[in-house]
Amino acid sequence: MVIGIIGGGASGMAAALEASKNPNVQVVLFERQARLGKKLLATGNGRCNLSNTNAGKTGYHGQDPDFVSNALEQMPPEVTLGWFADMGLLTVTESTGRVYPYSDQANSVVDILRFALEKPNIRLCLGAEVGKISKADRGFSVSTDAETVFCDKVIIACGGLAGTKLGGTMAGYKLLSKFGHKSTKLRPALVQLKTAWPGVTSLKGVRANCHVQILRDGKLHSESTGELQFTDYGLSGPVIFETSRDACFGGGIWTAKLDFLPQWDEKRLLSALSSRPGNLGSEDLLTGILHNRLGRVLTKAAGIGQCPIEELSADELTGVCAAVKAFEISLTEPMGMDSAQVTAGGVMTADFDPATMESRLVPGLYACGEVLDIDGDCGGYNLQWAWSSGCLAGRSAGKETL
Ligand SMILES: Cc1cc2nc3c(=O)[nH]c(=O)nc-3n(C[C@H](O)[C@H](O)[C@H](O)COP(=O)(O)OP(=O)(O)OC[C@H]3O[C@@H](n4cnc5c(N)ncnc54)[C@H](O)[C@@H]3O)c2cc1C
Repeated sequence: MVIGIIGGGASGMAAALEASKNPNVQVVLFERQARLGKKLLATGNGRCNLSNTNAGKTGYHGQDPDFVSNALEQMPPEVTLGWFADMGLLTVTESTGRVYPYSDQANSVVDILRFALEKPNIRLCLGAEVGKISKADRGFSVSTDAETVFCDKVIIACGGLAGTKLGGTMAGYKLLSKFGHKSTKLRPALVQLKTAWPGVTSLKGVRANCHVQILRDGKLHSESTGELQFTDYGLSGPVIFETSRDACFGGGIWTAKLDFLPQWDEKRLLSALSSRPGNLGSEDLLTGILHNRLGRVLTKAAGIGQCPIEELSADELTGVCAAVKAFEISLTEPMGMDSAQVTAGGVMTADFDPATMESRLVPGLYACGEVLDIDGDCGGYNLQWAWSSGCLAGRSAGKETL
């Protein structure tokens, strides 16, 4: 039995390894780029946050987040870590549940997978973009520019549109649409947010621990605490990735409300500011508490001019506390798909069997990974989905049910 797998990213490699466990299966793995796992190399800032020990169905989104349950039950994070350990990858789990290779290098993950794929019943076709898949008598004809391969079964593991420069593409959605599979609207998720607030340019490069609330028309859309990074266009950093899903979509006025000192209440901050040396200049009111540049921008935003601290009134100090604890920045739009880590939306899961990842429309056709309408939270959830769904698709397709 020949199984064609389209896409040599995370889910495609996982599917190939599982399907090839059946010695009667010949896997043909097509990857349009010159090497396997190019996107994986860029994950986790080059460290590859390959899983999260807390990953469960509540960390996933889409029209039917429950769709992930089967795949995650069969291959939860602890099984995934065992799977990698068996291949020779040493991992380390941080207190947040995020899992990284012990080497701290994403290429360790790619290398380990690449070595495991060196099997007599796996044929790697690199630089081979699949442009067409047609239904043949008993199976499928899979065509690249160079050849057409007959496959009894096909697994679409083409990934999503996010991270365009790293391989994100519409290909998977298009290949599946030819078989009648519809997609939901695609949006960038785990993405930076833009602002029209001019003050942001002077904060470019500043990092701060922050509690972020994303508000739509003043109502809470999402919130999280973590590292915020200012860029020349707006807001970035893990805390923004965590809160950005569907932000700035669907109309309304969008705002980020930032608390730069979540561990202190206003009373404590006011007391700290009130006891600053009175002869210091007002621009140094927050020096030693926040990043100097951030402190100055917030002091200015609170309407404080240059004067010695002792000349500031109680109301002015309260105003600075408010700027530190509840600073509002208007948001305009998310950055585009090329900056996004994952695609929200995708091929509708209702048309796939969650127990096997097989199409309900076309027997013998499977899909896994980001191409499906599933996206996970920040912190290793998306790769966990790629491994779990890829292995399930490969295992199901590898069963001889022709
Ligand atoms: C910058 C960045 C950082 C990220 N960091 C993390 C992280 O730390 N942790 C985490 O969990 N997730 C992270 N993600 C998300 C994660 O990488 C993806 O969700 C995951 O790789 C999806 O796996 P996949 O197999 O579905 O798709 P991909 O890994 O994208 O693989 C799809 C492959 O299919 C190939 N392909 C597409 N079309 C064709 C075709 N027609 N013919 C042949 N080949 C084709 C592509 O070239 C690609 O190699 C990050 C994403 C980005 C962009």
